Amino acid sequence: MNRLNNKVVLITGASKGIGAATAQLIAAEGAKVIINYAGSQAAAEKTVQEIKDKGGDAIAVKADVSKAAEVTALFDTAIAHYGKIDVLINNAGVMIMKLLKDTTDEDFDRQFNTNVRGTFNTMREAATRLADGGTIINTSSTLTRAMVPTYGTYVASKGAVEQLTRVFAKEMGSRGITVNAVLPGPTNTELYMEGKSPEMIARQAALNAFNRLAEVGDIAPVIVFLASDDAKWISGQTIGVNGAMA
Ligand code: NDP
Repeated sequence: MNRLNNKVVLITGASKGIGAATAQLIAAEGAKVIINYAGSQAAAEKTVQEIKDKGGDAIAVKADVSKAAEVTALFDTAIAHYGKIDVLINNAGVMIMKLLKDTTDEDFDRQFNTNVRGTFNTMREAATRLADGGTIINTSSTLTRAMVPTYGTYVASKGAVEQLTRVFAKEMGSRGITVNAVLPGPTNTELYMEGKSPEMIARQAALNAFNRLAEVGDIAPVIVFLASDDAKWISGQTIGVNGAMA
């Protein structure tokens, strides 16, 4: 299928995990893809190469989404290279797991600067620079629907992303732009696996109806659907992609 022919798609945090898998699928649907990364240059370039090997078109662009000037430069580079951006996928994120009493000021700032300010920075650019009729897909987490110790600042940051999504959807309708958020459940990536015991992983996998951890391939096709014109009447929504976890 070529549901994204002639579209240009910017994916933040696409060097690995859900973002890299989404970039691959997006390219396979015919779109040109900007693979943003913050530090993992080799992984980002590998993703670009894999896309090119399959006949797709992609570039890797470094930018820390928490820095407004770097996000402006990211949009400049993308538009200079491909002429426009139709779809913005805000996937970049970090997850700090700590009891609230142990969370430092630095933890709080890193959590909010990447997840909330990062999403804010790219959406502010997109407000005037995304093409008319475009699409924005933000990334929250199913944990905003659960109450799990140690995820306090993480879910607070994702809750803010969901609220920005709802309000921005109303603001962007006049240009035909849709804004939604996906809420993955626990998914087998570096971000999720780091620091977790096999018992903890098994416990969390048992919270969905299928008794397994999600793979990136369970999440990416939903993002591709939301990026396509088939989803044009979906906006302002927070969509669980979690096997009935919550
Ligand atoms: P990974 O850790 O595998 O990938 C995270 C990506 O974000 C990397 O490409 C990383 O790039 C990038 N990134 C981190 N900080 C920045 C920054 N400041 N600027 C630009 N890019 C940045 O994570 P996942 O694939 O698991 O997560 C993707 C999204 O999905 C996140 O928003 C996460 O919160 C969300 N999510 C994940 C779930 C899971 O269980 N995996 C569940 C629910 C939501 P680099 O390495 O170059 O820094």
